[in-house]
Amino acid sequence: MLRQYELVEMVKSYDPGIDENLLNKAYVFSLRAHGTQVRESGDPFFSHPVEVAGTLARLQLDHITIAAALLHDTVEDTVATLQDIENGFGEQVAFLVGGVTKLSKLSFPSDNAAQAENFRKLVLAMADDIRVLLIKLADRQHNMQTLHYIKDPLRRKKIAQDTLDIFAPLASRVGLQNMKELFEDLAFKELNERAYQTTCDRLKSLCLSSDEPIKEIVNDLTLVLQQAKISARVFGRIKTPYSIWKKMITRNTTFEQLCDILAFRVVVQTLPECYQALGILHNSYWVIPGHFKDYISMPKVNNYQSLHTAVISPKYQRMEIQIRTENMDMVAEYGIAAHWQYKQNVHAHDGTQYQWIRNLLQLLNNASNPSEFLENTKMEMFQDQVFCFTERGELIVLPKGVTPIDFAYALDSWVGDHVAGVNINGKAMPLCTVLKSGDQVEIITSEEKTPLPSWNDFVCTGRARMRIRKFLDDNAKNNVSDKPPEYLECP
Ligand code: MN
Repeated sequence: MLRQYELVEMVKSYDPGIDENLLNKAYVFSLRAHGTQVRESGDPFFSHPVEVAGTLARLQLDHITIAAALLHDTVEDTVATLQDIENGFGEQVAFLVGGVTKLSKLSFPSDNAAQAENFRKLVLAMADDIRVLLIKLADRQHNMQTLHYIKDPLRRKKIAQDTLDIFAPLASRVGLQNMKELFEDLAFKELNERAYQTTCDRLKSLCLSSDEPIKEIVNDLTLVLQQAKISARVFGRIKTPYSIWKKMITRNTTFEQLCDILAFRVVVQTLPECYQALGILHNSYWVIPGHFKDYISMPKVNNYQSLHTAVISPKYQRMEIQIRTENMDMVAEYGIAAHWQYKQNVHAHDGTQYQWIRNLLQLLNNASNPSEFLENTKMEMFQDQVFCFTERGELIVLPKGVTPIDFAYALDSWVGDHVAGVNINGKAMPLCTVLKSGDQVEIITSEEKTPLPSWNDFVCTGRARMRIRKFLDDNAKNNVSDKPPEYLECP
């Protein structure tokens, strides 16, 4: 377990604005609050927030985030309140802890895999500050790394499935590629242990258990580039079991046909050198057609930039090569956190430390190709949406500003026409209450109840308006005398 001074030293090494006192206080507060609690592994509970803080420190997040990471389970699992956190650690830390606590209350019904995309949006929508999401991801990482200690196999499977459906895509979305791969492999091992073992065994049988073949290819690549006077940092790795298995399934290919088992990275100094290196490598090895991608001129939505190609290695193996500059490599490794690191060097203390969060939002809004545009549009759209649940946990997505009447009509016209009342999060509430993301909404119906003209004052979906008008019109036709049309006009 990371010790108090080690953690502080770590954060100090990259965050010039560090408040050491705050970090020390958070460490001690969390240690005391969790007291004698233990994890299923038998480890003291406190080891968990420390691991989470350590992961975020390795991503070089600011000291506020690290303090919040240390405290992230205190409100949920100890007697400490959010007010205690605010009094002791300030508004920002309390805001982050509150956000993580809110997210931990979400449950993901696994019976409908198609809802996964909606849940990802829900998590993003609820994490008002991206740092909330980063703490949540680091939290999930440690929970996955200690998953095997959980005794209940059903709970283990559920956690693994959520990780694969929700958290791996979220990690990828914010550019944390290594974390995404770790999530996938740990979940794969839990969900399909046989396929996981077979894939690992096949990798071993290809003599890839030793580093030798990789080293030889690295030397070869380095030499070829050196001869062209390009100095590059070259390294290689075997791709993860999950990514190999998934490609075999989706592309219906054999193990041997995959280009993706061996992956090499060539990191050069300048942008033109990327294209030069590409030319040299294409000239020196057999190129496998159909694998070239230029993410430099068309970056991915998470700002990832790189050239990708696939060639036949000197040993007649297929291999993938990624070519990029040091800066691009940093973005690929650290994701959005890299932006913060860049900014930090430029202006240390002018309150722009969180510029990278704004940068993220900006880059999420900058599209460079049609599929990314679609992705971005989705991102924008959900900012105007609320995600609510029925009492059975079914997710209903509606535009922002909706009330229980809109919710009722979204479920069913009959339900909408007979609303008698509503419970929100288990509490009876007025029908004009504006719904928030995460609300659980239970509509109470009664045969006798019918739509009222006053509903028009607060409904906002077209469907609800239309149904209410239709009902009132029909009613007006039937009882011309006591239903003047002015009823439809809002005061
Ligand atoms: Mn936790």
